[in-house]
Amino acid sequence: MKYFNIASIPGDGIGPDVMHEGYKVLKALENLHGGIVFERNEFDWNCKRYLETGKMMPDDGLEILKDYDAILFGAVGAPEVPDHISVWELILPIRRAFQQYVNLRPIKLLKGIESPLRYKSVEDIDFTVIRENTEGEYSNSGGKLHENTPHETVIQNSVFTRYGTERIVKYAFEYAKQKGRSKLSVATKSNAMNYSMPFWDDIVREIAKGYPSIPFHLYHIDALAAFFVLKPEEFEVVVASNLFGDILTDLGAAIAGGIGIAPSGNINPEGTYPSMFEPIHGSAPDIAGKGIANPVAQIWSISLMLDHFGYIDLAEKVVQAIESVLVEGDNITPDLGGNASTAEMGDKIVNKILEG
Ligand code: ATP
Ligand code: MG
Repeated sequence: MKYFNIASIPGDGIGPDVMHEGYKVLKALENLHGGIVFERNEFDWNCKRYLETGKMMPDDGLEILKDYDAILFGAVGAPEVPDHISVWELILPIRRAFQQYVNLRPIKLLKGIESPLRYKSVEDIDFTVIRENTEGEYSNSGGKLHENTPHETVIQNSVFTRYGTERIVKYAFEYAKQKGRSKLSVATKSNAMNYSMPFWDDIVREIAKGYPSIPFHLYHIDALAAFFVLKPEEFEVVVASNLFGDILTDLGAAIAGGIGIAPSGNINPEGTYPSMFEPIHGSAPDIAGKGIANPVAQIWSISLMLDHFGYIDLAEKVVQAIESVLVEGDNITPDLGGNASTAEMGDKIVNKILEG
């Protein structure tokens, strides 16, 4: 029997609702497989806790999490708490402390979902964006406000290290190779950002030498964004810096049918620390407590976790179960045009998983 210790942080708003469906899926996977057990511990690290205690998580929170095999995250955020608190005091410390330098986002149009790109099919929209998750434009390395210049001037630093750039680019090539993807597309902007991006591009060219079977193509970020809309079928794996990846993945979620279904993984590829899997949507206070949140993003995040653990077939099964519920269309939540509750849709997905 193989045991996995999972730390669960359901969070706020719809987070606990969709996490509950995730738990049902974990149980179903145990039954289906017969040889794995998910031991989970739930942590109430959320905005309610922050309002009561002044802290999103206890002082030794990271210490508590560090020995888990993975972290499942719901969503945090509440109207009474500024967004930067939940992000800066919970999500970012976890990503940084655990060296989750890969933000992995499948951009895959599921069967049964309509893309806003009306002429594109599930074959056309099926790729993965790998976003650098720890440095670059979001490195929080300071900046400067020059108030005494004739024109008020602000400088915001971006930090690209060789170490940080090499490891994300290498991961992207490795990922493409392992998943049998035929090419790598790289976001750049070396014509305008003439220090950081040529550095990034040079590292791509160096690392590429180790992967002769995977051609790579550099795209300026503006053109790349346009191609996401015009020819998504061009893409297999896309690697991007923190800022570019942030923008591209939101665009990617949009062409793949929206925010209620998109999952993400914050990966520590070496496995030195736990990786974290979460829906990309927030806590959606407007529908919290109504029992109508779409559980797909959370359940798909579990599929990413299974893939990370090496259970590729189980991971695939979860996505297929989601797809067959979407295709049948009579147990889908209101955001997808149905009238099922979160629990009804979750139960249906569980049934499909158990059917094998
Ligand atoms: P955050 O700042 O935490 O990202 P946000 O308000 O920007 O939060 P979300 O909370 O992700 O964004 O949600 C935006 C809107 O999308 C919500 O108000 C909600 O109506 C809808 N939404 C998001 N996730 C879901 C879901 N899982 N099921 C149904 N609707 C959702
Ligand atoms: Mg938001």
